[in-house]
Amino acid sequence: KGHIEIDNVTVDFGNGSIAVNDASLEIMPGEFVCLLGPSGCGKSTLMNTVAGFVHATSGSVKVDGATVEMPGQDRGMVFQQHSLFPWKTVCDNVAFGPLMAGEGIDSARATARSLLEMVGLSAYEKRYPGVLSGGMKQRVGIARALANYPSVLLMDEPFGALDAQTRAMMQENLLQIWDEFGITVIFVTHDIDEAVFLADRVVVMSASPGRLIADIRIELPRPRV
Ligand code: ADP
Ligand code: ADP
Repeated sequence: KGHIEIDNVTVDFGNGSIAVNDASLEIMPGEFVCLLGPSGCGKSTLMNTVAGFVHATSGSVKVDGATVEMPGQDRGMVFQQHSLFPWKTVCDNVAFGPLMAGEGIDSARATARSLLEMVGLSAYEKRYPGVLSGGMKQRVGIARALANYPSVLLMDEPFGALDAQTRAMMQENLLQIWDEFGITVIFVTHDIDEAVFLADRVVVMSASPGRLIADIRIELPRPRV
């Protein structure tokens, strides 16, 4: 589970610039891939074709052999701007996905609590998002993205708005989660240090525009749980 095939994908928004230009990329189950490149080069757009938010103008995107047509439970998403429901508790924010997928409330909340424990937020499960710091909200966002047990986790500059220390903590936490879940991760960033620290594999996208120009395997010794 978590096999991604991007074949000759072009995305043309029809406004003069081609956002993604003939990109091909195969990602194996359990890989941690950082998509690295300057702002505006098309990273989010390419990832959004996997998410199902953007349709390729030509080419195809498959997850586990099925052509991506819309967002689905097999793909969890984390954005830079977390959009938690302010009127729901932290626990119910995370339980929302399983609930929508038809789980009973008790079971959905049990799932939520175990994920909140994993991201270190058990003490906050009954609080509301408004009392949380930026880093804590982002951890809720990660728990929520994992709540339907997706095979793929798609992260768009998730730590971009955090201070350096919080960011470093979040990176460690993410690697632990990745290790525990055996999930495929695509992580969009323009920060080369972050990419090299996190990823098994760094795929570089070019500013001019939307082309994949390098695919690098990272073999640094680094902390793993
Ligand atoms: P990155 O994630 O690398 O910063 P994006 O994928 O967000 O780059 O954007 C790539 C290009 O596509 C940019 O020129 C951007 O303005 C354009 N673009 C992105 N989304 C849309 C959209 N929904 N409609 C029109 N143009 C878009
Ligand atoms: P940042 O504020 O930079 O996003 P963190 O999310 O890591 O950083 O928060 C730092 C620590 O501050 C948390 O681990 C937590 O212990 C504490 N903290 C932040 N917000 C609150 C809060 N509303 N109530 C209690 N403790 C908090």
